[in-house]
Amino acid sequence: MKNICVVGVGYVGLVTAACFADLGNCVIALDVVEERINGLKQGKLPIYEPGLKELVEHNVQAKRLMFTTSFTEALSGTEFAFIAVGTPMGVDGEADLHYLEAAARDIAENMTGPLVIINKSTVPVGTGDWVADIIRRYQKNPIPFSVVSCPEFLREGSAIGDFMQPYRTVLGSLDPAAAEKVAQLHLPLRAPIVITDLRTAEMIKYASNAFLATKISFINEIANICEALGADVKEVAIGMGYDARIGKQFLDAGVGYGGSCFPKDVKALAYMAAEKGRHPQLLYAVMEINNDRREMAITHIKEMVGNLKGTVIGLLGLSFKPNTDDMRDAPSITIAQLLQVEGATVRAYDPVAMDVARPLLPSVEMMPDPYTLAEGCDALVVVTEWNEFKQLDRSRLRDLMRQPVIYDGRNIYEPDEMVRSGFIYRGVGRGYNVMNLEKGAGHTILPPTE
Ligand code: NAD
Repeated sequence: MKNICVVGVGYVGLVTAACFADLGNCVIALDVVEERINGLKQGKLPIYEPGLKELVEHNVQAKRLMFTTSFTEALSGTEFAFIAVGTPMGVDGEADLHYLEAAARDIAENMTGPLVIINKSTVPVGTGDWVADIIRRYQKNPIPFSVVSCPEFLREGSAIGDFMQPYRTVLGSLDPAAAEKVAQLHLPLRAPIVITDLRTAEMIKYASNAFLATKISFINEIANICEALGADVKEVAIGMGYDARIGKQFLDAGVGYGGSCFPKDVKALAYMAAEKGRHPQLLYAVMEINNDRREMAITHIKEMVGNLKGTVIGLLGLSFKPNTDDMRDAPSITIAQLLQVEGATVRAYDPVAMDVARPLLPSVEMMPDPYTLAEGCDALVVVTEWNEFKQLDRSRLRDLMRQPVIYDGRNIYEPDEMVRSGFIYRGVGRGYNVMNLEKGAGHTILPPTE
């Protein structure tokens, strides 16, 4: 007998369904897009996420994971309904809640017994109360229910590990008994569980994403200053990261953050604040710095190649980060378009995102591998730090290119080594290289003395 239903089978919903099933629950996952559900029934996943196909297959075979498009089927006999539908950016930067509204209405109209409705989608503060109103309004008969906020913190590319070993689980509800039941579901994950009220839980998600985006924009600001002063941001970040108050993560300078979460969530938080008459000036700066990164990449490429008219530029990587095929707000889209505006012909290679990218970038030719991509190029631009780009055969690459220029938008290579391999190379924020200064010893880490 099933106990959990998950509404939405995207990056969050499908991982949630498969992981809860793997923990021994009986899960039914629902989506309104028939093609997605039919595909899943035949073992075809609608998204790429490492390890997910195997996890889905294993749990389908064990009869703990099922798929449907029917809310009646999904809700009959179910105790918990997780909502994991998209909350994309609206026209003015606000979160667009129309998928959530439709899901809440369908749940209300089809529930037949007491239900805990758990929202995993990232939603504006106050949405939990609004969902409860919708449920009350559209229920055919009054049936007891509770709404719990359980914001999701997984990252695409490492989603299963993030779900199974989270830093924490956050639960918000005005009904302590419901929050306790949802906490029980999460106990096998052995992570701290923070139980709070609905609005605070919703805010924790936005505050967390805004903080991480701030770290990225901060190090990008430092990268600009490093370039001007002849310091190396990569080593600055290493030196900073040893301080536990700062931490090592999210200090990678580059062409900026993208994806389906940071851009829309920072914007939505700023929108919520402004709507209430606050002036979220830090959030505005974070967004401005991030938007500038993409244009700055074009300026740097022009400084290396000269006039881009008639040149051929190859993009290494398209997805917004490695290990995903997600192209939502990927920096590659803006970079490709800006290069084309400058008159360049743009081609690209990505290990998994080319099928998703093709309709978004119809005039970018997709190439079968990095070496075919490099043939005849005037510059290669590293846009996504896929592992497979780190050990490319340097001399083969250089010999294939028309001009041996590499703009490393993710700092995956070492400048000295690339120059020795015969490239005209530039990374981000590696000032000594930009200013033609001699590099010192590089960073050395000595073990602590007794
Ligand atoms: P997604 O677009 O990949 O998936 C959403 C799914 O919901 C789609 O399959 C869609 O068809 C389905 N759907 C839409 N309306 C529906 C309805 N009325 N009933 C049933 N299904 C419906 O989105 P995602 O990336 O999984 O994100 C979902 C939510 O989780 C968003 O709020 C997002 O901000 C948040 N989130 C995402 C991530 C991430 O890394 N992608 C991480 C944390 C939080």
